[in-house]
Amino acid sequence: MASSWNGVPYITIGERYHERFGGKVYKIPVSVVDDCPNRRGLKGMQTCVFCDVWGSAARADVMVLPLQEQIEKVHGILSRKFKTAEQFLVYFQAYTNTFTKITALKANFETALSYPFVRGLVVGTRPDCLSKSVFDLWTEYHERSFVAVELGVQSFYDDQLEFMRRGHTGKESIAAIHKISKETPVDLGIHLIFGNPGETDEQMIETAKICNDLPITNVKLHNLHALTNTPLEEMYHQGSFHPVDLETYARRVRIFLENLSPRLAVHRLAAYSSRRDELVAPKWTGDKMGTHQFILTQMKQQKSFQGAALSCSDAEENRLKNQLAERMLL
Ligand code: SF4
Repeated sequence: MASSWNGVPYITIGERYHERFGGKVYKIPVSVVDDCPNRRGLKGMQTCVFCDVWGSAARADVMVLPLQEQIEKVHGILSRKFKTAEQFLVYFQAYTNTFTKITALKANFETALSYPFVRGLVVGTRPDCLSKSVFDLWTEYHERSFVAVELGVQSFYDDQLEFMRRGHTGKESIAAIHKISKETPVDLGIHLIFGNPGETDEQMIETAKICNDLPITNVKLHNLHALTNTPLEEMYHQGSFHPVDLETYARRVRIFLENLSPRLAVHRLAAYSSRRDELVAPKWTGDKMGTHQFILTQMKQQKSFQGAALSCSDAEENRLKNQLAERMLL
């Protein structure tokens, strides 16, 4: 199995899924809510600066459809594109998926799991939209299916969170992660955004160390970028937001990965704007493969890989680190 990932300097989420499901798994992104505490303006919150009207949905063309139609449409598209695709996870992606009634969430889980090709559920949410009933629901569905939660942490630095107008602190995210881990058996991952104003290379090391100490299994990386009709677009035009260049972003990702435990799988290395016509800046975000390849090339040139800067204390971590080092020599 490892041969498919030769030359990849980090543990991919695809490998983890392969171990768990015995083959490749594809995500079907769906949208079942159209709101979040920020957009609702609860407690004086504002829309996150980077968020467009679609609430981070991958497929704006599909999200207006009833859930069944969304699943069937995206499943059809993926099956035609990837002829061998057999296993899928339904990814409740857009907006804040726990910012709704539990009965509605439950009905949506039932709908998703009614398809024989669906192997599990992935739920995107925020650190401040959690409750006992949400935990109970996740636990109930974990007993019959795979349940993963992706938490929008974005940063552990409060000045960056304030800039992004997230409406929660780094401490609140850490507390939420521990609570989810203590009270539910779900697979837990976090989203991080790099490229904030004032960000430093040292913060990349610190962020990786914080991740290493958390009860999570994976991370997803994004670069801060401006889309049309977002507060960030306005800031960009006014000169108060300067996106980082690709070289800087690639260096930050490298430093982060070098300090990240190989026990944590990585979803992707950057945000890839699926609606290119909405991309304002930086332009390199629109080139999905080019950005990915650039980061990989930088890492390869520096003989860098996930965990390279760590002295791994446990046997499993060490095994994974050696595996990555071997891959990079090939
Ligand atoms: S990123 Fe999420 S929490 Fe922020 S405004 Fe958009 S949907 Fe709401």
